[in-house]
Amino acid sequence: MEPQQKKLFDMIVIGDGLAGFLLLYELSRYPAFANQRVLLLGDGKEKQRSWCFWDNDLEPELQKMVNTSWKELSFKSDDVTVRQDLGKLNYYYIPGKSFFEYFNEEFLSEHPNIHFQKDIALNISGSAGNFKVTTGNGVYETPKVYNSAFLGERPQIDLWQHFRGWFIESDEAVFDPGNARLMDFTVARNGECRFMYILPLSEKQALIELTYFSPQPYEMSVYDKEIAGYISEHVGENYKILEKEYGQIPMQQGVFRHSGKNDETNLGTLAGMVKASTGYAFQRIRNDSKELARAYFTGKKPKRFNEKDRFAFYDSLLLWIIRNHPQTCKRIFTQLFQRRKMETILRFLDQKTNIWEEANIFARLPIRIFLKALYYRLTGKSFARPQYDYHVLRELQNA
Ligand SMILES: Cc1cc2nc3c(=O)[nH]c(=O)nc-3n(C[C@H](O)[C@H](O)[C@H](O)COP(=O)(O)OP(=O)(O)OC[C@H]3O[C@@H](n4cnc5c(N)ncnc54)[C@H](O)[C@@H]3O)c2cc1C
Repeated sequence: MEPQQKKLFDMIVIGDGLAGFLLLYELSRYPAFANQRVLLLGDGKEKQRSWCFWDNDLEPELQKMVNTSWKELSFKSDDVTVRQDLGKLNYYYIPGKSFFEYFNEEFLSEHPNIHFQKDIALNISGSAGNFKVTTGNGVYETPKVYNSAFLGERPQIDLWQHFRGWFIESDEAVFDPGNARLMDFTVARNGECRFMYILPLSEKQALIELTYFSPQPYEMSVYDKEIAGYISEHVGENYKILEKEYGQIPMQQGVFRHSGKNDETNLGTLAGMVKASTGYAFQRIRNDSKELARAYFTGKKPKRFNEKDRFAFYDSLLLWIIRNHPQTCKRIFTQLFQRRKMETILRFLDQKTNIWEEANIFARLPIRIFLKALYYRLTGKSFARPQYDYHVLRELQNA
């Protein structure tokens, strides 16, 4: 059917996921937002996804969505266990269920100026000040588009963080709810960069997640077999599986852009807000949303995360190592957590450390492999890229 109607909005937000909703949330903090006619396009589904991130404190609306938070994190490798207090920081866990319940129900009904339409954007045409967004149901005109959906070809991704998680409940009180395990590298084998991630949600419940950094995901049975073995070794056999999740996050630099081809504003993953070396994006998307909202109401240019700063350069070294020498990951992360405070590492990942702190961090890592990465990075010599099965990747991306 030919899309026919033309409707005018002050802005159109494409994508009812993390970035779309956080942007609307930040815009809504400005009183003038109530007068804006907004169209939000998305599928209206609650996504099977949860977010972890760290911060000092949260505003009440976000705090309401937090299921659990931890003041302590731990790291484990073969002969090393590090368990540390996070100082002023908390490690937060927001399940998709609370996030989407709040936004789809409470937030949208509190903001009648947002017209939510279960509809898929097909195309953006025009230019800033005069966009047309075509969907299956119509054509909508607007001066401003914020887009978090991949509408054209997806970029080629060479390295993924792919993970499978089981939410389990044990018959016994076996988990320590005061401590989340960021990485357990005892599971790294066969030269692979992989670790377990454990979020205890109570003394009996936890999310146990097997995470890989590699070019290609595996069959589900590969993750499931490993997780079952790990649980049987560390928890026992008396448990039930409450839910399972699977996810893939691109660990790639240089392929995502702040703006789309018609100069529409990109958001979230599409805008490169996922930190390529870790897969964390929640805080970046939150900060970006604040900036974009400020820019919208003040007319000033937003200060957006820059892919060319020194932190992006550090990331590029680590990504090169993960891609070309995955077997060294375990040693790198073990030395990092053994020799630096957890709080400093989190500040480093947040890109809030100074250059001396960073020098101190790198001085405690296996230097030769970083020099090698530096050599390849500076000389621009090509990476020894592994062979990927892009067909499998595409199928999984579209799953
Ligand atoms: C499983 C998983 C777990 C993650 N966990 C963490 C974490 O713990 N901490 C962290 O910091 N980061 C995490 N991330 C990374 C990042 O925070 C998330 O990917 C985040 O959801 C990205 O936000 P987004 O809005 O760009 O994408 P999404 O949240 O995926 O939102 C995109 C939205 O666009 C909609 N859409 C798609 N196509 C169209 C279209 N054509 N028209 C209209 N709507 C469309 C989709 O339905 C979706 O709702 C995780 C990522 C994944 C995949």
